[in-house]
Formats: sequence, structure tokens, C-alpha cells
Amino acid sequence: MGKEFNRSIDAYKEAVDIMPGGVNSPVRAFKSVGMNPIFMESGKGSKIYDIDGNAYIDYVLSWGPLILGHADDRVVESLKKVVEKGTSFGAPTEIENKLAQLVIDRVPSIEMVRMVNSGTEATMSALRLARGFTGRNKILKFEGNYHGHGDSLLIKAGSGVATLGLPDSPGVPESVAKHTITVPYNDMESVRYAFEQYGDDLAAVIVEPVSGNMGVVPPVQNFLQELRQMTTENETLLIFDEVMTGFRVGYNGAQGYYKVTPDLTCLGKVIGGGLPVGAYGGKKEIMEMIAPIGDIYQAGTLSGNPLAMTAGYETLSALDEKTYELLNEKIDHLEEGYKQAALEFNVPLNINRAGSMIGFFFTNQGVINYDTAKTSNLDHFASYYRSMIEAGIFLPPSQFEGLFLSTAHSDEDIEKTITAAHHAFSKIK
Ligand code: PMP
Repeated sequence: MGKEFNRSIDAYKEAVDIMPGGVNSPVRAFKSVGMNPIFMESGKGSKIYDIDGNAYIDYVLSWGPLILGHADDRVVESLKKVVEKGTSFGAPTEIENKLAQLVIDRVPSIEMVRMVNSGTEATMSALRLARGFTGRNKILKFEGNYHGHGDSLLIKAGSGVATLGLPDSPGVPESVAKHTITVPYNDMESVRYAFEQYGDDLAAVIVEPVSGNMGVVPPVQNFLQELRQMTTENETLLIFDEVMTGFRVGYNGAQGYYKVTPDLTCLGKVIGGGLPVGAYGGKKEIMEMIAPIGDIYQAGTLSGNPLAMTAGYETLSALDEKTYELLNEKIDHLEEGYKQAALEFNVPLNINRAGSMIGFFFTNQGVINYDTAKTSNLDHFASYYRSMIEAGIFLPPSQFEGLFLSTAHSDEDIEKTITAAHHAFSKIK
């Protein structure tokens, strides 16, 4: 018998009249898998529960932040203590120092950091800073990399090897988009071409060091090293958008994992432990250009508020090198199970992996950029997705997203997931 979603259906009917698409962020609409949104009620550890009482093993984890799982006791207890003392003061608090110091200790490129409220704010602010610091206008980004919804970053590539950006969304002025150059991910030849054409006015290259927004696509060998070299030679800033990879790929983020140090780093997700946080940081000489010591303006009413800082601090404090070894072991197990299932049912499956990030594509091709990611069979994905939901496995409802694991996922959770994948693959024709 199938799961019942009656209350979710009612809630969705109510929501569509009062919010665009009934949701506050498009990825929650389940459009690409042909389902309606599932409304959630609670979560604990690796499990979440919807308003119809269905339970799921959760691999979305609020799109990455909940690396300790839902409602972790350490985070919840600290938040309770803090909330009683007041939620925001618009004045500095000591917990901001503590989280900032932790971030500086762990992220190699960060000597100084500014807290904001989302990943989008972090990337937007880092771009302004890069432009202000270099006195240049253009930025280079990679096709299929997502950096939030700031105007300069919501740009898709045209047809050429390296093209000036066209807006990806109505509402982004062409006069803004023209300053964004987009080239294919993992393609140094295109990067070189773009530098030849626009290098004099290139303020920054922004990159997801492991891409997580076209599914998981790791950098090919030496890609990040060559980007580092190219940007240094051209006095262009290298910005790593580690909103997803930070404290996820490994203890020191992707920059620790690949041993490449950018000039600026953007963070989000895990550093807020499930509350709204973003951050950007880097070399002191660059960060000191931000107001109030410098002229480059950026501010926030709720930035660094004690609740978000506490959730982030407790979360990061609970992580050490061992955490990532354990996460890696769990993911090894999951990867092996999926491989076997694909072999057994002859399902074309490409598995991409970088530390504790993993993504599955329904294709026989190696996936190294957006074009190859798009070879994935979306009908296979939708069929697999619906079957997994029936089996109580909650996955990101899009082919172009990776899975997220937490320290709370047990071996039994992984076994159940593999069994469900076997069943889902058996139905793919
Ligand atoms: N950068 C990356 C790499 C992301 O994955 C995301 C969100 N998925 C963002 C930026 C934007 O973060 P937010 O949704 O918090 O604005």
C-alpha cells in the first residue's frame, strides 16, 4: 500500500494561494520528480517526519547544514539557554568572537571573517569586495555552479566557449549580466581564453571547488591548482564558494582537501548548524577594506545574532578529523551498495565522490561538467525518486543535487537505503 499524503496535499492547496508555488524556495516544490511538496513536522537524528505521520531517513538535511542530524541534543540545549537571554541585540556578543575564531582556525584562507545571514549574501558581498579591492568589474564563473541568487551570479553561458553572460532570470539587467563571464567547469582551456579576452578587467574567479549544484562534480586533476596560478598571475582574486563544501568535504573544507588556498572563501550551511548563517573571509589586507574600517559597504541587522552563532559554534565544535573518517566510511558503504544495485539491474549509473560528498547520475558517461551532467536520464531519476520516497528515504528532489549524510546516520539506515535502491533500480527499464 502506498503512503498517504492527505494533510500535505491540503497544506499545499492552502499554500499555493498565498506563496509563489506554495513554497519559500523553489527546490522544495518537487516539480522535477512530478510530485507535490511534502510538508514536514519534525526531525530527530537521521529521521524526519511529515505531517501525515510518514517517517523518512533524511539525506536532504535541510540541504546540507545538519551535519549532526536533526535536533542534535548539544545544539538544542545550547539554543534553549541562549534564547531565554534574548535573540538579538544589534550589538556585538562574545559568541561571535568564538565562532569567528573557530572558522579562522579551520579554514586555511581565512584570516578575518564577516558573518552574514545566507550563502547568497556571502557570495554577493565577496564579489563586491573583490571588485572594490581590484578596481575591476568582471567576474568569471562556471556553468552549472550555483552561488545563490545575486544578480551577478544568476547568469548562464551562451553558446560560445567563453561568452559574456546572458541573464538566467528575467529581472537581471543585461548591464549587470554583461560583467559575468561563464565558461564550462573543469575546462582550463576556456578559462585561458577568457583571461586573454577579458583579463585586464577581471576582478575575480568564483568557483565551487567541488560542484554540488549540478549533482556532485569534483574538480579534475590540477584544475584548482591551475586556477590558483592563473588568477595569481593576473592579479585576479580567486574566490572559493564553500557554502556547500565547507565543513562538509572535510575538516578544512575543500581547500584543505585539495590543498589550494583561495584569496576569499564563502561559507554557509554547516557553519549555521541549521540556523540562517553565511560568512565570507580571507586575507586580512582584503577583508580590512570592508566597512567600518574600509570603504566597501556591507551590513546586516541580524548578522552574527546569538542564536545562529550558537548553533554554528556547537556544530563546528562537535566536528573533528575523525568525524570525516566516519562519514567517509558510511559513504563508502552507500557507494558500494549503489554500485552493486546498478550492476544487478543493469542500470547505467555514474557515481561521483569527493570526500564526504556523493552524487549519482543515471548515465554511462563520466560527469565532469554541466553538459555531461545533463546526459543523466531524468525519467530514471524520477522513477527512482518516487520509489525511494515510498520506501521512506528522503532524497533531494532533483538529479542535480548531491546527497547529504550526517553523523547520526546509522549502518542500519544505510542498509535500508541500499535495499530501497535495489528495489527502485529493479523497476527502471
Ligand atoms: N553557494 C552554494 C555553493 C550553494 O550550494 C548555495 C545554496 N545551495 C548558495 C551559495 C546559496 O546559499 P543560500 O541558499 O543560503 O543563499
